[in-house]
Amino acid sequence: KQPDRIAVITGGNRGIGLRIVEKLLACDMTVVMGVRDPRSAESAVASIVDLKTTKGKLICEQLDVGDLKSVKAFAQLIKERYSKVDLLLNNAGIMFAPFKLTADGYESHFATNFLGHFLLTHLLLPQLKLAGKEGKNARIVNVSSCVNLIGRINYKDINGTKHYYPGTAYSQSKLAQILFTRHLQTLLDAEKSHVQVNVVHPGIVDTDLFEHSATTSVPIFKKLFFKTPERGSRTVVFAAIDPSIEGQGGTYLSNGGKGPF
Ligand code: NDP
Repeated sequence: KQPDRIAVITGGNRGIGLRIVEKLLACDMTVVMGVRDPRSAESAVASIVDLKTTKGKLICEQLDVGDLKSVKAFAQLIKERYSKVDLLLNNAGIMFAPFKLTADGYESHFATNFLGHFLLTHLLLPQLKLAGKEGKNARIVNVSSCVNLIGRINYKDINGTKHYYPGTAYSQSKLAQILFTRHLQTLLDAEKSHVQVNVVHPGIVDTDLFEHSATTSVPIFKKLFFKTPERGSRTVVFAAIDPSIEGQGGTYLSNGGKGPF
């Protein structure tokens, strides 16, 4: 029997996403990974999942989420191949040290972390709407970060004047994902679509994203403060499939519960 629930994930060939893919395959889903290198993505999954015996089905397709042409081509392929999409996981992300607040820093972080996912979400919405039904919403999960808060902290100078502190290009791109989540859910609710969108902070996780971080190079910090990628995948998978948050779209989830916006 072919699995009939379709999940689309951006990235997923390493880090948190790889563990998400592992769990979705164990849930009998067809998992379509949008990745920059489909062959190595398949090998990465095969290194932790027995693809011959797994209940799910893995498909790896070319996607550079920072390139809008690539996003359009990927969405078109999904539309042609599948009549519906049950789950969209906007997981791929970049964070370059030293957290540039330059034009280049904004461009690269916004392109990959926000704009590509914004377009992909809109292009796949018709397929998501077809999958959702009363009591069982199709779901979209945006993988954001608690560092979005950095972009929203105002500081006072010595004269008591409040300033907006933009933080990093990365944190701003993650804030954009959160605002998009809330706005999109409002629109979906207004048209009574059976689609819910949540946004998640996975925790501070030991992945390549932090490869330049001083913290991960000190083993004791790593042990104390960093989750394993498997633990990091838990809140994302919770938002993706757990029945207990059915109907609670628009919310920000961290550590499996609601966090502050
Ligand atoms: P990793 O660096 O381990 O993985 C990043 C993933 O994104 C890889 O699969 C990578 O693929 C993919 N990716 C990056 N750029 C592109 C692109 N242009 N097109 C397609 N895929 C791309 O990071 P994590 O697993 O830690 O991060 C996953 C998500 O979690 C990100 O959105 C991140 O911001 C978020 N997050 C992570 C935290 C952490 O502590 N690790 C904390 C908070 C949020 P490739 O191999 O091709 O580069």
